Amino acid sequence: MEIKRYQNYIGSSWKDSSNSRVVQIKSPCDGTVVSEIADSNTDDVNEAVTEAKRAFYEEDWAFNPRLRATVLSKWAIKMRENFDMLVERLSLESGKPLNEARIEINNAIGYMEYSSASARTLYGTNTSVNENSMNIMVREPVGVVVGIEPWNYPITLMVRDSIPALAAGNSLIIKPATQTSGVSMEVIKLLNDIPELPKGICNAITGPGHIVGPAFSEHPDVDMVTMTGGLDTGKDIMRRAAGTMKKVSLELGGKSANVVFADCDWQKALTFCSQAIFSNAGQTCTAASRLVIDEKIADKFLAELVEIAENIKPGYCLDPETTMGPVSSESQMNKILNYTEEAKEYSECLTGGHRYLENDCDQGYFIAPTIFLNPPVNSPIVQEEIFGPVLVVQTFKTEEKAVELANCTRYGLASGVWSQDLNTVMRVSRKLRSGNVWVNSYNRFFPECETGGYKESGSDRASGIDGFLKYTEIKNIAMDYS
Ligand code: NAD
Repeated sequence: MEIKRYQNYIGSSWKDSSNSRVVQIKSPCDGTVVSEIADSNTDDVNEAVTEAKRAFYEEDWAFNPRLRATVLSKWAIKMRENFDMLVERLSLESGKPLNEARIEINNAIGYMEYSSASARTLYGTNTSVNENSMNIMVREPVGVVVGIEPWNYPITLMVRDSIPALAAGNSLIIKPATQTSGVSMEVIKLLNDIPELPKGICNAITGPGHIVGPAFSEHPDVDMVTMTGGLDTGKDIMRRAAGTMKKVSLELGGKSANVVFADCDWQKALTFCSQAIFSNAGQTCTAASRLVIDEKIADKFLAELVEIAENIKPGYCLDPETTMGPVSSESQMNKILNYTEEAKEYSECLTGGHRYLENDCDQGYFIAPTIFLNPPVNSPIVQEEIFGPVLVVQTFKTEEKAVELANCTRYGLASGVWSQDLNTVMRVSRKLRSGNVWVNSYNRFFPECETGGYKESGSDRASGIDGFLKYTEIKNIAMDYS
């Protein structure tokens, strides 16, 4: 396997980090090295910010929405032309099965196309309060935006959450998650073939989050940080950004619940409840890691769910037979196993709860699909985001209790409601404290629609009109013609 080497992209040039050091990226399937990336530090951060600031003020971008639309639409086309290469690199670095990698790149292209279209829709408003004045509210880009990305859906989320900043006229610096920096840089490399992009408007640097991240959050010339990732990281960014009052937009974690009533569409609910936790090995921010189910149907439903879980085939990412990949790293695997070992002491484990070693998986970080039944509400596996293929089942007798259980954590990212009764669906959907509620489906995302978290799952929204307008300031130009 060829080890690919990636440099930083600053001012439209490719360069090593200032210390010339590299970090190796290992496949979570078997520990082999697949990529090498630049090990950037604060000097590289400063260089990228200086260049992004220069570009914002000097290049033809902030006031040229048609050019922005052209560049982003060409970028989407380049992604489509390089589809297979991007899928393979994504699969190798993240460990996700090829089919999941295909879905991800496809979704990312859809978000890129949406950003291209939205670039030409930056309208303001106006109002007048007397005959001799007119207030014009103009939408303008914020300035230098830094996009800090996660590894679980590295390409979809980079495009969904950060590219709208370019569409709105900002200059952008992308900081990919270390584990998936190679495939992220492959997407950035496609810009080499888009000569219309002005120099320095889009930059990308790799490196350790705990060094590069704080340097961006505290930098006086960064106007906004947008981050998709964990809760603790989000809090750190918010604290540091307060020093310079920069804008912060956060898409964070979750502990989402699928609420299943006795009159659900049985087969559809079963399929979606399984996919909602086991796809991407449970490493989805909106994963329905809790199943809140009517106790009248719980025994039969769970027996069938356990059977589905036991038929999932963990394995090597490029093997077309594989239906579940590994978790992202050895430390993540050990963290999950700590949760499951501890949980066995206070909860019934219906299946899994251990490392998966069959099918040549012993060199990788695989966890058997796991289901726990009725742990105490305040226990760690109910309250904390595990980020692995671990489902917690909570049973209820009444609709009121179902809502109480669904809302019982500090997170509020997403929920699902399963019932064929419109009244139940509407009553419950309105009471769930989360940014997404999927009714009789799960994890359906649309570039045109907002998504994001209530409570500690984040601030702001991604995608849709709000996910675009958050990258603007509103200027009131007040005209007096008395
Ligand atoms: P993470 O918080 O560990 O890392 C996210 C990014 O932040 C990485 O690029 C990392 O290098 C960087 N980083 C690390 N420390 C930093 C610091 N102190 N300052 C600034 N940046 C720093 O998250 P992860 O492990 O990559 O992703 C998993 C988490 O992301 C989960 O909690 C998941 O729920 C969440 N997530 C949320 C969404 C959403 O849309 N709400 C989507 C995907 C993932």
